[in-house]
Amino acid sequence: MFAWMLSPPVLAVAEAKSADDTRGGGLRKGKEALINRSPLQEEIMKCLAYSRFVYMLLGMVLVLFLDGAVYAQAAKPSRAILFVIDGLRSEAPERLGLKNIQRLAKQGTLYRKAYLVMPAHPKSGAWAEMHTASIPNPVMLSGTLLIRRQTRLVQEMFDNKAFTAHLASTRNAYRSVNRRFNFSYMDSNGDESAIDWAIAVMEKEDVAFMRIHLQATGSAGKLSASGQANLPWKNNIWGEGSPYIEKAKRADELLGKFVQSLEDMGKWEDTLLIVTADHGQADEGNHPMDNEGSWITPLIFVGAGIARGRVYEYAEHIDIIPTLCHMMGIEPPSSGPGAGTVLEEIKESNPGTAKSRRQFLREINEDLKHYYDLLESAEHRAMKDAEFRQQLDQWQAEIYSMERFSAWHKAGSLSRLIETNRRVLRNMQAALSMP
Ligand SMILES: [Zn+2]
Repeated sequence: MFAWMLSPPVLAVAEAKSADDTRGGGLRKGKEALINRSPLQEEIMKCLAYSRFVYMLLGMVLVLFLDGAVYAQAAKPSRAILFVIDGLRSEAPERLGLKNIQRLAKQGTLYRKAYLVMPAHPKSGAWAEMHTASIPNPVMLSGTLLIRRQTRLVQEMFDNKAFTAHLASTRNAYRSVNRRFNFSYMDSNGDESAIDWAIAVMEKEDVAFMRIHLQATGSAGKLSASGQANLPWKNNIWGEGSPYIEKAKRADELLGKFVQSLEDMGKWEDTLLIVTADHGQADEGNHPMDNEGSWITPLIFVGAGIARGRVYEYAEHIDIIPTLCHMMGIEPPSSGPGAGTVLEEIKESNPGTAKSRRQFLREINEDLKHYYDLLESAEHRAMKDAEFRQQLDQWQAEIYSMERFSAWHKAGSLSRLIETNRRVLRNMQAALSMP
């Protein structure tokens, strides 16, 4: 019934220790003990006897001290939850009236367009030897576009005492990004079941990081591309009765249920929640890698330490994990060339001005779209021109295309990667314009 993909240390809900035994319980007890033993309080008690004035002063100090403590607690989240709705395109929340996502966006900070790498999913070759998931998933979880075999994922950055959990409503796709989680649920039993388990884990454990992946919306989008021709939603995910709409609305309800349960448990105020998708969706359904609708998702940060009501136009999926790690006070899995940046503007303690930035992912995708367009006519020409064939093979070996994604790290940096791609594109275009 349930597929337990257990990575060491093995811990399932049923086997979880009682609430008092958990590290969280221990930590809470530790905090209380600290407050009980506070010398400041004893000092205040003594001073009370001396004068009303001293009492007032110390009272003020105590208020400031407690304020500071409360502020520090609110600013640094106790846990981070990455909530992924498969295939949710950037405009879907507004267009479909997804109430919970829209409400959370208002309570937190929204990026209307979060760009991701083209959602290619090589099933053989160098990438497939490294990962079972489509390229955008490990990219998101490592926070870099220059992935190597040894590149770490976010859950591997939490220390051994922190509890991490992974829930995906599909059995096999995310096996390779499942490593080192303390708890895993991966089954194609529907989004509802994954959320029920997520809530159960939250109740039992003091979770530091949780990744939830609801698969049904993306799978429903595929039906529009492959389904019967006489239906209004054939080749149109927005069409009447579209399964994509139905599943996106359901995912939104489940998100609402999950947040409500965190509130009921008293675990909402100190949670950092990130809502996004692993890729978007084409109007026609599915996520063809050269379709702009596939490249863009919504991205919301909400909760502890996050500014309310801020809206920005652009972020990149490689920014998500560096930002999460920054908020949680842990080292990010990747830094340096290829890695994303911390989105400082989401912090309530910061002014909301976003730094101007180069839009690497938009540039890379647009160049590659151009390349795949040229490639069609180039392949035509190569069929009847042996010399051109050789030339084309050379370009294909040089350009950092999605087929060569596992070699992108050889570019050294994203600007050099873009430079190389543009040089190849210029040469291709020039050669194709010659008779
Ligand atoms: Zn997907």
